Order: sequence, then C-alpha cells, then structure tokens
Amino acid sequence: MNQERILVVEDEPKIAELHQDYLEQSGFQVSILGRGDEVVSRIQKEPADLILLDLMLPGKSGEEVCRKLRTFSNIPIIMVTAKTEEIDRLLGLELGADDYICKPFSPREVVARVKAVLRRSRATINEGPWLTGGPIRLNPETREVFVEQQPVNLTPNEFGLLEVMMKRPGRVYSRDELLNMVQGYDYAGYDRTIDTHIKNLRKKLQTFGLEAAISSVYGVGYRFQIPN
Ligand code: CA
Repeated sequence: MNQERILVVEDEPKIAELHQDYLEQSGFQVSILGRGDEVVSRIQKEPADLILLDLMLPGKSGEEVCRKLRTFSNIPIIMVTAKTEEIDRLLGLELGADDYICKPFSPREVVARVKAVLRRSRATINEGPWLTGGPIRLNPETREVFVEQQPVNLTPNEFGLLEVMMKRPGRVYSRDELLNMVQGYDYAGYDRTIDTHIKNLRKKLQTFGLEAAISSVYGVGYRFQIPN
C-alpha cells in the first residue's frame, strides 16, 4: 500500500518532531520544512498529499504560503495556529485552508484531523463531470441534480451554491465567498439573500430527507457534508 505523504511546515523542531512521531506511527510518510518561503518550490518538486502548515514561520507566513499554494493547487492544508481569535480562523477559511488546529494541540487530535481531511479530499475525487456526495449527484456541464434516480429542480442560484460547496465537502464557506463564487450566474443580491437561497435549497433536499447535507456554521457561513 502506498503511504500518504504529509509535509509538516513548522519552525520549532520539538513540535515538528512531535507531529512526525505521531504521524509516522499512524503509517504516514512525513517530511519537515522549517521555513515558509521554501514550501512552494518543495511542493512543486516533491508533491505531498497534505500539508500541516504553521502560521508563524520564518521567510513567509503560513497565510502567504496558503494563498500562494491555492493559486495552483487544491492540496489539503491544515493550519496550525496559536492565535485563537475568531478573526484569524475566518481569515484562514477565506484563504482556503481545509481545517485548523490550535496550539497547544494534542498529537492524537492532529492525527485524527489529518485522517478526516484526507478522507474528505478523497471523497471529492470524482469520475467524469459528475460531483457525487452520498446519494446526491450534480453535473456542472448539463446542470442536472439527482438524488438517487430522481431529478431535483433547482434555480440557477441554488444550483451554483450547491455546486461550489459540493466541490469541497466539509469546507466552510463564508457568505461573502459564496456570493463571489455564484456571481457568474448573474447574481444580484446582498449576502442575506444567500441565506434565503440556502434555506430554499435545504427545503428541496428535505424532500429527500437530506437537509443535513448543508449545515450552517455559526458566525462563519455554510458547508456541504456528505450525507450517509
Ligand atoms: Ca512557528
């Protein structure tokens, strides 16, 4: 079996070793990098399956690294931060990180998060044009949505929102992000109307008992979670 590769970006050697010990014990292959400004070139030379990214780094901050990586890669990123203020969490979500770990952390929690994020990212590797999340299937090319074999009729805005969120299950999107991402569908509204579209979308999913596929995250926004 191929080992999954984790790149740990952490400038404090003791913390980096702690990550490495626990992740290796769980069967991952781990490499360590102590500087932010070397991450992009390393990933381009030596791909990884997930990056554990410290926020405060010499050379380049974790935020800058994340922003840079997102210009060319969907690699799962878990941010590790000692700054617990809500604003930083939000900023990280805006940046496109997949999850967070707050310092001080328990190494077991790190392993659990790494596994969960990898599971999620595998679930989004889909065949053909179809995006699949449990019984829900969405085709961005034909703009069709099915639950099992039954078609679901969505408005263009509802379709746009579901498409954006289904591409990255588990990832939380702020209202602003959702607004920006569906603007391609002639969106002309304020962010409160995002709530209305989500409400209507959930109502349609509720017909199939799937309203829990879209959940709101208090103070942040919304996410799609693969229903059972
Ligand atoms: Ca640091």
